[in-house]
Amino acid sequence: MTADVLSGTELAAALHARTARRAAGSAERGHPPRLVVVLATGEESTAWYVRSIARAAGRVGIDCTVVDVGAAATTEEIRAVLDRLAVDDAVHGIILQTPLPPGVEVADLVGSIPPGKDVDGAGPQSLGRLVCGWPGFAPATARAVVEVLDHAGHDLAGRHVVVVGRSTVVGKPLAHLLLDRDATVTVCHSRTKSLAEHTRTADVLVAAAGRIGLITADHVRPGAIVVDVGTNSTLDGRLVGDVDARTVPGVAGALTPVPGGVGPVTTALLLEHTVTAALAAAGPSATQEGP
Ligand code: NAP
Repeated sequence: MTADVLSGTELAAALHARTARRAAGSAERGHPPRLVVVLATGEESTAWYVRSIARAAGRVGIDCTVVDVGAAATTEEIRAVLDRLAVDDAVHGIILQTPLPPGVEVADLVGSIPPGKDVDGAGPQSLGRLVCGWPGFAPATARAVVEVLDHAGHDLAGRHVVVVGRSTVVGKPLAHLLLDRDATVTVCHSRTKSLAEHTRTADVLVAAAGRIGLITADHVRPGAIVVDVGTNSTLDGRLVGDVDARTVPGVAGALTPVPGGVGPVTTALLLEHTVTAALAAAGPSATQEGP
């Protein structure tokens, strides 16, 4: 058996096309969508990722500015930047890119992003709304997993989904999105005993641990759908997932590639959220245009 490839590139292209139309509509109404990414690290891989978001934004008519506060920025300095962006009517979306400088905690800062501009669903209000099942911006990567499965026509109702990883960015919000879709959800983490015993019970297995090759064929029930969220850099500069790409395709029914799976859909959703925020700022008649 060779697993079907669940590519995210076609879905991302469709999302970008719709976002471009909506961005033009927002601009016509006097709100050209604007996204600001606050960067506070010298890590080249993170800077590259942020530049790739900015390029994608430009292609769909979103102005994306990167505010690089430097890898030595303090909590107070970063908060001052976020507070300024929070009250700037020309800014519709704000992303605080991690990692942050040593000693600076995400939890001390994300509350400074107003929920209406929190396009990566990182703040406590966004996450609280997600847990309650209320409207708001969900973390883009978690949403991307669900969108990829939807796009491939996999109904989640009643399916057992095992998520490996419990971060606030991916695993925890994803568990709630899956519950909202009537899946039965198990969340595993680094303290889970006998990981494979859990993952082998999955109809859908989501790997979001950030560990190269963590998920091998032994972890996968034959025919299961496997979504690889991991994006890990190898020593020779390649981008690889958490799933062992040599053994798992022989067991899984379907598998997302890395790169080209969840990643491009995540970027597309960040931009979609930014335009949704801009249309909301443009007023009720504009938002009736819908997502
Ligand atoms: P994170 O904050 O480091 O969380 C990793 C999670 O995996 C933690 O809950 C950890 O458990 C768990 N874990 C680590 N080792 C494990 C093991 N051996 N067995 C079981 N669970 C284990 O990472 P993250 O931000 O969620 O990101 C996860 C991966 O997704 C990374 O590769 C990241 O680059 C990637 N990512 C991709 C996108 C995208 O757009 N494609 C976006 C965001 C993240 P504990 O809680 O017990 O420590």
